[in-house]
Amino acid sequence: MATLEVRDKYTGEVIGRVPVADREAVERAVAAAREAFPAWSRTPAHRRAAIIHRAADLLEARREEIATTIAREAGKAWKHALAEADRSVETFRFSAEEAKRVHGETVPMDASAAGEGRWGFWVRVPVGVVAAITPFNFPLNLVAHKVGPALAAGNSVVLKPASTTPLTAVLLCDVLREAGLPDGVLELLVGPGSTVGDWLVTDRRVSKVSFTGSPSVGEGIVRAAGLKKVTMELGNNSGTVVEPDTDLGVAVPRCVVSAFANSGQVCISLQRLYVHASIFDDFTRRFLAATAALKVGNPVDRDCDVGPMIDEAEAIRAQAWIAEAVAGGARVLAGGRREGAMLEPTVLCDVTPTMKVVCQEAFAPLVCLVPYDDFEDALAAMDDSEYGLQAGVWTNDLRKAFRAIERLDCGGVMINDTSIFRVDHMPYGGNRRSGLGREGVRFAVEEMTHVKMVVIRP
Ligand code: NAP
Repeated sequence: MATLEVRDKYTGEVIGRVPVADREAVERAVAAAREAFPAWSRTPAHRRAAIIHRAADLLEARREEIATTIAREAGKAWKHALAEADRSVETFRFSAEEAKRVHGETVPMDASAAGEGRWGFWVRVPVGVVAAITPFNFPLNLVAHKVGPALAAGNSVVLKPASTTPLTAVLLCDVLREAGLPDGVLELLVGPGSTVGDWLVTDRRVSKVSFTGSPSVGEGIVRAAGLKKVTMELGNNSGTVVEPDTDLGVAVPRCVVSAFANSGQVCISLQRLYVHASIFDDFTRRFLAATAALKVGNPVDRDCDVGPMIDEAEAIRAQAWIAEAVAGGARVLAGGRREGAMLEPTVLCDVTPTMKVVCQEAFAPLVCLVPYDDFEDALAAMDDSEYGLQAGVWTNDLRKAFRAIERLDCGGVMINDTSIFRVDHMPYGGNRRSGLGREGVRFAVEEMTHVKMVVIRP
């Protein structure tokens, strides 16, 4: 069987080998998940919850080992990798709790004359086999956001993690097995999206595709999936507005982390920063000082802030976007240099709306600073995007906060924070090219269940 070598993204050292699935392996995995589904879906909610809780406990006990695996295979700074491990524990705990809350409602049948004399209620039932396809940038928590709710709802799962970061997923599957998950309820397939992913998406025994990744791949999956439920968690070129009444002592460090954590490879990473002209110079000076203080280097170092990008090709692509912006009149205020997959945290100004660094998803450690005079213009600029995942607005003016909430066409508006804020039980997802449907445990459970209506004529 062919194997895939997984490398440390900083040193290039091979840190693991995993078997690559072929067509028969996909066939067997879907068959096993299908076979395991009836018994798992009938397993009482408290038992499903207990297994998921146990998995959370086991993950917590191994949090440092997991953080190291994430830091090495994804190139994520250790402190952020540890935060991801901790968030995943919480995502599983929320999932265990949600397993006990999968329920419906009664329907007042006599609201219609035709319904008189009948009793009605609806329940939520699991859809069957969920195909979970996940990206490289949160190799544990974005897997947890699919596996946890799917298991909570009584579905079985076939998981295909990103080919660059499969080791954390292997570890998670071991943990769930140790926690008591029956055979077949969670199957893992490693292999290229274009083959293994596509075979899964087009398999008629799969009832639901839950995908997190890039918009172009997501669009292809929606077309290929046919009559299946789909959830699409896609990209964004996230923006944040900073009003003059903002406490820059709080906002600036938060903006710097939001732009450069995980080398900007976060779907809600701060890419466009609109700062009121009256504070622009002060903000920029502080922002550049905080950026210069970031420790860039080997992600496993405990004080590392920014590690490499996922591979050199991506870093070259991002650097080319920066060069293109500079050729169009942008200025590099910090960073811009590259060595292999390491791209320095880069700050740009004098950008225009049609530059790739502004209008497309950079997914790199780069941020554009844009001054504005009028709040409405800033909101309009931020909303002038084909994406709509999350946005941030720093203001202490209640009217402006509510104006932003009303004006912005996106899945989440963060007041007095940046686009990057997320906790794992809140509804999360995007509009337009940012996706379809929502995650956040309760919301993912809704997406992974059917509503079944029952009408009784006594
Ligand atoms: P990607 O290239 O789209 O890959 C995501 C997953 O899809 C991988 O497992 C990939 O497999 C698989 N895949 C690729 N082609 C496929 C196909 N034809 N059929 C089925 N599966 C296929 O994305 P990425 O580079 O890993 O992640 C970055 C993107 O994810 C960014 O756009 C980011 O914004 C987005 N993202 C969104 C969210 C959110 O919640 N909205 C969160 C995180 C990331 P291989 O690895 O084998 O190619």
